[in-house]
Amino acid sequence: MSIEFTATVLGSARIGPNRELKKAVESYWAGTLDAAALESVARTLRENTWRELVAAGLDSVPVNTFSYYDHVLDTAVMLGALPERVQGIGSELDRYFAAARGNETVAPLEMTKWFDTNYHYLVPEISPATTFSLHPEKVLAELEEARALDVPARPVVVGPVTFLLLSKAVGGSAPLLDRLDEILPLYAELLTTLADAGAEWVQIDEPALVADRTQSEIDCAKRAYDFLSAVSTRPAILLASYFGDLGAALPVLASTGIEGLSIDLTVPGTVEHVAVVPALASKHIVAGVVDGRNIWRTDLDRALATLASLMGSAGTLAVSSSCSLLHVPYTLDGETDIVDPLRSWLAFGAEKVAEVTVLARALRDGTESVSSELDQARAALESRRTDPRLHDAAIRARLEAGVSVDRTPAEERRRAQAVRLDLPSLPTTTIGSYPQTTQIRLARAALRTGQIDETEYVSRMQSEIADVVALQEKIGLDVLVHGEPERNDMVQYFAEQLSGFAATSNGWVQSYGSRCVRPPILYGDVSRPKPMTVNWSEYAQSLTGKPVKGMLTGPVTILAWSFVRDDRPLAESAAQIALAIRDETIDLEEAGIRIVQVDEPALRELLPLRSKDTAAYLEWAVRSFKISTSGVSDDTQIHTHLCYSEFGEIIDAIVDLDADVTSIEAARSHMEVLDDLNSVGFDLGVGPGVYDIHSPRVPSVDEITESLRAALKAVPAERLWVNPDCGLKTRGAAEVERSLRNMVQAAAALR
Ligand code: GLN
Ligand code: ZN
Repeated sequence: MSIEFTATVLGSARIGPNRELKKAVESYWAGTLDAAALESVARTLRENTWRELVAAGLDSVPVNTFSYYDHVLDTAVMLGALPERVQGIGSELDRYFAAARGNETVAPLEMTKWFDTNYHYLVPEISPATTFSLHPEKVLAELEEARALDVPARPVVVGPVTFLLLSKAVGGSAPLLDRLDEILPLYAELLTTLADAGAEWVQIDEPALVADRTQSEIDCAKRAYDFLSAVSTRPAILLASYFGDLGAALPVLASTGIEGLSIDLTVPGTVEHVAVVPALASKHIVAGVVDGRNIWRTDLDRALATLASLMGSAGTLAVSSSCSLLHVPYTLDGETDIVDPLRSWLAFGAEKVAEVTVLARALRDGTESVSSELDQARAALESRRTDPRLHDAAIRARLEAGVSVDRTPAEERRRAQAVRLDLPSLPTTTIGSYPQTTQIRLARAALRTGQIDETEYVSRMQSEIADVVALQEKIGLDVLVHGEPERNDMVQYFAEQLSGFAATSNGWVQSYGSRCVRPPILYGDVSRPKPMTVNWSEYAQSLTGKPVKGMLTGPVTILAWSFVRDDRPLAESAAQIALAIRDETIDLEEAGIRIVQVDEPALRELLPLRSKDTAAYLEWAVRSFKISTSGVSDDTQIHTHLCYSEFGEIIDAIVDLDADVTSIEAARSHMEVLDDLNSVGFDLGVGPGVYDIHSPRVPSVDEITESLRAALKAVPAERLWVNPDCGLKTRGAAEVERSLRNMVQAAAALR
């Protein structure tokens, strides 16, 4: 029934090679672009993407991977599952954006991380009142658009099991998989519709099946694919798995009537698992040998060996990226600052597509047909393997000699710090950043383009710092910060100064909606050529008698928001970064800084998808934090900041960090975090955020007092700090001042 294809990718980026979609949707939101013009930008982007994929030689091209905001939200629309509160909103497009971003009257859907990537999806809300219905217009339109251009189009949709597992049950507690039978008929109808519209294959994404799943969840998956494969008129089904190993779900899915299965072969162990599932011998295996979420050039020889080892176990074989190319930048073209040899080690989206086609050609016509490509890949790999920047003997020797991470017991540290800091009870502070004003951004841009020189830039930043210090003194905060005006981003700022990192000029990747990030590339061993933050902190401290907190980003967060080495365990890179941060804390201390905060907002983000891997992760993550923070004397106070209020698996790790003070997001969860911390015996300083910084609303003194009273039920006053939930960089100056005044007043009244 199906025509097997040989070369594909599981999805492509959609924000535009020059962020055209970002600019267009933001103009639409601002009211300066109309819906028709937005639609035309979108159509052009889709067309260009498909044409490039076809021209590169793919014989099956994913469609419906375009999205105005998010593909999970698109799925909710397709299933008629937008929340009740947006139903009344005028046009379909505005309803969609209201669900995504909210408006004056309706709250948006929650947003959360797409598995262990840095992409964030919107969490569909499903209530007992939700009645599902099929709305296939978007996928049909994109299919027709592509077919009209002679594109061998393969529509992609999020699968029913993943959709329900990722959604949130509201107003009812039954597991959402209980609703599977309501949506399966809609998927069945969709399949028939797509077949009628000419689709030969459909890709159904079920990444949720690579995480830990219960037997009953796996049974649901079986039921779903038995049912869908029994639909009489339908395209061939490619069930897509990525980001991990299907484990126990693999033989179960293979036993259903689906025609194809994609396997993420960049994950250790998956090749071996495929070999022991006999049912795969009748399936089309889409082999994800080209890493779709990191930026390294593929080791083509190794990929060919993997493909060869699959030959015996698969019915037929296609070459593919391991996941959608949503997670990597478009192309290396235009990255003029990235030069050889580093450049030769990299492959962004377009280069990955080329690798897929080279591998497919090798399978079809033999390796001789691609010998020059293989030679090039080998040479690049060899130069990477032998580059001295990847083998810094000094750093390795330091780590091998062993770094002591012991600190004096917390109680003794507390006494030493109390003497040196002399703070009132319920000390007030902030998390680090103050509003990033246009002035600040302009100064940074002017420095970049050479309009102003370094001296002028430093003096402008110093005047920002002076303003922020004066403001904090005026408000009456106890522990001050310098405000981070010099930081474009809390990770990029450090990556730009550490050896072993490279930056891209146009390497944008969608983070959520129209928001993009440009992750640094960690390619080498990490060292710190010179102090990174000391001058700024020292300057701020020179302006006030109150303690100014030094402000650093921790190793886990730096790794989580970068493209990382794939030739070394992450733990090793973490230890190297940690050593650089450790040196920075010591330099800050020597410069007279009495408190240093090491932020780890991404500590939870790198948690592995499978719980069997959790302990090992947490061990190196905690150790890297301790390497970073254990080099200072007892009377230097270490703070950390964590950006979430649900701990789950990391609660014990927070105790193990042994930071003197931990500030943590808590306002939205009503201080529940404190009980969680108590339950594991946490007895250090803690600053649960007393107000939510995600909204411009100014919290009243009463409200903050309420929060603090709630906190005091769980934590004795000696351990309690008073601070907002997170940094203030996205807020306006006026609201920040008023909020902090109220916060200081609430703390003073309680003392
Ligand atoms: N110190 C950083 C700031 O205040 C922390 C940001 C974060 O937690 N993401 O901006
Ligand atoms: Zn935060």
